[in-house]
Amino acid sequence: MRGAGSHKVPGGWRGSAAQIAIGRAAIIKWNRTRHLQPKCGAARKSDYEPCQNLAMANGRCHKHGGKTPKGDGWHKPSWPHRDAPGANVKLNRKLNDLQRTAAKREKRLKRMTPEERAAHEQWQRDHKPGSAVERERQREYRRQGRATRLLLSTEPPPASPEAQALQAEIDELKAELFELEFRRGVFA
Ligand SMILES: [Zn+2]
Repeated sequence: MRGAGSHKVPGGWRGSAAQIAIGRAAIIKWNRTRHLQPKCGAARKSDYEPCQNLAMANGRCHKHGGKTPKGDGWHKPSWPHRDAPGANVKLNRKLNDLQRTAAKREKRLKRMTPEERAAHEQWQRDHKPGSAVERERQREYRRQGRATRLLLSTEPPPASPEAQALQAEIDELKAELFELEFRRGVFA
């Protein structure tokens, strides 16, 4: 910790050769396995290749959604704890971030073509922030809606040759029955 000079106590542990040696060994050990750690697979803006930064718990790096809260807090802003050190500064930074993001989004929406705008709005409708349970419920609801629409839109399947033959027979019998009943009506 060479930057922590103000904490350096003469003759103490901090900044001592022994501490530096331990720190260096830890970094070397980490660097040896770094390439084996899971990497972010998001497409980089520069060349659309996988990003390759170290992935966070959800498989994305801190720049590609790794910090996006999961579960009940999905896509909801996470506020600093009231008692956290520098809570006020963190809160203000967060609010500024949100404001800046909103302004950027506004600009992006203005540049969109009507199709892009429609797709964006569809995505927003399908990805509401909030609890995992509620989102799963909405997902199920949409699945059922899609299935119903598909069911209503499809034509009945063409009848098999056997079914067609049977239907012809039924029609013939019905015609016969009709004739019989007609005659009985006439000649009764
Ligand atoms: Zn990434």
